[in-house]
Amino acid sequence: MVDDRVVPSTAARPPGPRWLEVHVSRGAEGTLRVRLSGALDEGSDPAALLGAIGGDVVLDLRGISRVNSIGIHRWIPAIARLSRAHRVAVEAVPYCLVLPANAVTGLFGRATIRSCLAPYACARCGTDRIVEVTAPELGPAGPPVRPCPECSGRLQFDELDQYFDFMAAPGA
Ligand SMILES: [Zn+2]
Repeated sequence: MVDDRVVPSTAARPPGPRWLEVHVSRGAEGTLRVRLSGALDEGSDPAALLGAIGGDVVLDLRGISRVNSIGIHRWIPAIARLSRAHRVAVEAVPYCLVLPANAVTGLFGRATIRSCLAPYACARCGTDRIVEVTAPELGPAGPPVRPCPECSGRLQFDELDQYFDFMAAPGA
């Protein structure tokens, strides 16, 4: 059985556009969904992108492939402003944003973090995948395991235990 939350690791790190691209859609019950992809760096303008959002929103960040300190510096006031004005839920925080999220207070303002993308590996066959892990799945037992798509083994979380720390304290 293939779990559709388990995708090849290369798919989560596409070459991607040079700058931040935005895709807007309506989810179930009319929820505004904004998907960002590309690079969060000196070529991006998060204040303009997030400033254009006029209501409660789900931000899907799975397509962000690169970040640098300039991009982070611009992102923080933009997400702070947006999450003060509206309810913001963040989904699929990518690997490149997890390190800054654990190092920088307020990287997501008051937003609720619903899920992040985490590196997983199968000890039996060596397959590695990027897996989306939701906040409710992070219980006292640690990150969830997933069936390996290549063998009868299991994919297990393959990073430092502190990886998910930023998800434990959202909305500060
Ligand atoms: Zn395997």
